[in-house]
Amino acid sequence: MKKVYIETMGCQMNKSDTERMLGMLSYMGYEETKEPEQADLLIVNTCSIRQLSEDKAFSQLGVWGKWKHEKVDFKTIKIGISGCVAQQKAESIFKRAPYVDFVLGTHKIYALPEIIERINKGKRVCECTETNATEDNLAKNYDIKRVKGVNAWIPITEGCNNFCTYCIVPYTRGRERSRLPELIIKEAKDALNEGFKEITLLGQNVDSYGKDFKDRNYRLADLLRELNAIDGEFRIRFVTSYPTDITDELIKTVVELDKVCEYFHIPMQSGSSEILKAMNRRYDRQTYAQIVQKVRDMVPDVTITSDFIAGFPGETEEQFQETLTAIDEFELDYSNLAAYSPREKTVAARWTDKFIPEDIKDERFQRLNKKVQENCLKSNLKYVGREMEVLIENFYEHKGKMINTGKTRNFKTVHIPCDKDMTGEFVNVKITGAKTWYLQGEIK
Ligand code: SF4
Repeated sequence: MKKVYIETMGCQMNKSDTERMLGMLSYMGYEETKEPEQADLLIVNTCSIRQLSEDKAFSQLGVWGKWKHEKVDFKTIKIGISGCVAQQKAESIFKRAPYVDFVLGTHKIYALPEIIERINKGKRVCECTETNATEDNLAKNYDIKRVKGVNAWIPITEGCNNFCTYCIVPYTRGRERSRLPELIIKEAKDALNEGFKEITLLGQNVDSYGKDFKDRNYRLADLLRELNAIDGEFRIRFVTSYPTDITDELIKTVVELDKVCEYFHIPMQSGSSEILKAMNRRYDRQTYAQIVQKVRDMVPDVTITSDFIAGFPGETEEQFQETLTAIDEFELDYSNLAAYSPREKTVAARWTDKFIPEDIKDERFQRLNKKVQENCLKSNLKYVGREMEVLIENFYEHKGKMINTGKTRNFKTVHIPCDKDMTGEFVNVKITGAKTWYLQGEIK
């Protein structure tokens, strides 16, 4: 059997694409290996959200290219690049990395089997044409090779129409397309039959799911209802929510459905209304505050997480301060942070005269990080003494003790010392302590 190694970078969408590629490759007689030195086929599935990730992808290709060039045993290996950098740079990758055999864009992952056949005949292939459709017709022919675990990630939309001025996604993933509900439901049922206990619906803006359907009136709330009706004990989550796309109906549906968890990821990006305008986000500070308040009022014990960018072009110290106060004021339970990184093709990348010096960006990032840590601990402390349901995800040894770790319905990580491996079980846990990044608990 031939062996394939895939190095996956970036977000869950990429991890899901890797699972799809592994599914197709297994039909072609390839077996996954975790050792790149043993592979006949090496693929780097890339992310282009920041310059650093792109540089990492090319440095990985460089290492493999050197093997191919210098080591006799590696002369016949095939090297490919997929994901967002592939979509964005297309044919130009062959110039920069001449040892690459194929470039596979995000719109074309289901062309992989045909590409492999062509490169095995000695051809070099670039397949990055944009498409306006999801490729589900092709997908039907292949099973997905899921990474074993508790949580199955299922993409429900591809692409984005929002064109935030800093973001590369609309250029690398294309316009927003919703996958058909029947295929998503089949995928969910297959994953549950395989033993997965949690389904996470994925998309750049999951809340606008279905807006592009011409033949039906079917939105995220409808999909959640159908998934919730599947028999069995499991949980449902969805990420990411664009603030102004969250409808009252969606919030009510989350409250009503027993399997849908009390968790919303609602990126704010900046606490300053002026910066939000420059980012082309379609809300201001006050609108965001109202949305978060509504979710908190309607969903008991909800966890709300966010994303923020430090040092967006033109951001003043006062505007940055507004981001710090937003994290406090809206009691955000956790936030992902990034220092602004200009991305080719995006509008903000042209505002070079407004770029914030690296040292100031770094310093703002550090202050944001500190604020996020303080709020995370504050949020965790609220649950000490409570009894919560935890879905166990991992079992490992730490300093001579065996630990089960898992997630509550509202996405809090809990560490539970216990000698028995309970991975995949739902357990009732008494919360006994809180640290910055996790809760401590004991089985009831
Ligand atoms: S909503 Fe904005 S930040 Fe999110 S993927 Fe779309 S363009 Fe990027």
